[in-house]
Amino acid sequence: MIVNISLPDGTTYDITIDRLKKEYFDRKVVVVTNPTISALHLDYLKDKLSAKELSVVTIPDGEKYKNMQTIETILEHCFENKLNRNSLLIAFGGGVIGDMTGFAASLYQRGIDFIQVPTTLLSQVDASVGGKTGVNNKYGKNLIGAFHQPIAVNIDPYFLTTLPKRELGAGIAEIVKMAVTFNKDFFQWLEENDLNDEENIKTAIAKSVETKAWVVSQDEKEKGLRAALNYGHTFGHVIENETNYNTYLHGEAVGIGMVMANELAKKIAYMSDEEALRVKKLLEKYDIPTTYKIADVEDFYEHFFLDKKSLDNRIKFIVPKGIGNCEITDKISKEDVIEVLKRFSN
Ligand code: NAD
Ligand code: MG
Repeated sequence: MIVNISLPDGTTYDITIDRLKKEYFDRKVVVVTNPTISALHLDYLKDKLSAKELSVVTIPDGEKYKNMQTIETILEHCFENKLNRNSLLIAFGGGVIGDMTGFAASLYQRGIDFIQVPTTLLSQVDASVGGKTGVNNKYGKNLIGAFHQPIAVNIDPYFLTTLPKRELGAGIAEIVKMAVTFNKDFFQWLEENDLNDEENIKTAIAKSVETKAWVVSQDEKEKGLRAALNYGHTFGHVIENETNYNTYLHGEAVGIGMVMANELAKKIAYMSDEEALRVKKLLEKYDIPTTYKIADVEDFYEHFFLDKKSLDNRIKFIVPKGIGNCEITDKISKEDVIEVLKRFSN
């Protein structure tokens, strides 16, 4: 399956969902990966990939290494191997590797090409598409970065066979996000089909990528519509923050966050009890957490303002309108939000 993405400035690339094909690059290529992925899958990649000159840079595994220092390590490798403006970086890993490889590619000699080969479900359905790249610093997550589109995204579902179950669930949460915000039919399909089946997961990846590609082509730089992809994230980020990023995977926090956003949607009569229940059930089918105990609702509310997306001290909520549609709004009263938060505090 191939999904094409076309941006208004003429940038276009293919997102291929299939086993990797053998490919030769007549240029210098650097594969960026980490020890976990390289132990499992580097031989497989190297069997498919050949180049004029090929080298691998291995960076430590973990979100805590998604920083400028690691970018320096990648750039250093590029200089040592005398990459030129025609060289290519390949991101081989999850979203952490993808975001950093893309950012390094945007910086090296003011920007060289890169290809995404995402190996987690979350990066296959979300992070590898759309050109947001970057790193974290002590002020927060993804606060340093660039928009730099890959020249191709090659999604091979085979990599998912080694992915831990929780990581799979975290990716499914982002799939559910795409369906609830934009695609009613896809949501219904998800209810009726099992993503543990290989063909089904391929279809779900393609549908998600199609949705994301469509959104990004409308609004690459997140001036409006693209913010809808933060459904569940406004609440999710607070949960991740309150639990010091060590209790929930990002996608799991988003799962809980979507349930919270749905309560808000119910409160303003955008969603019925029945629709909210359908979303919860779908998440639970894959053991994605849907409950969280808020210790202090006022504290939780204050934490919304730590998010870089809360511009001008207004909190932007993504509230679903039924299933398959949503609204981005900063007009919800604090009273309504607090009342919803209280439903999670006892
Ligand atoms: P991750 O990259 O940390 O990968 C999760 C874990 O799985 C890691 O330990 C990794 O080594 C391991 N792993 C990767 N592939 C594997 C495989 N096939 N088998 C076994 N283990 C494997 O996490 P993630 O969830 O992929 O990505 C999260 C990151 O993505 C965050 O930094 C987030 O900010 C970013 N992100 C970016 C965008 C974007 O638009 N650029 C969107 C969403 C998320
Ligand atoms: Mg996310």
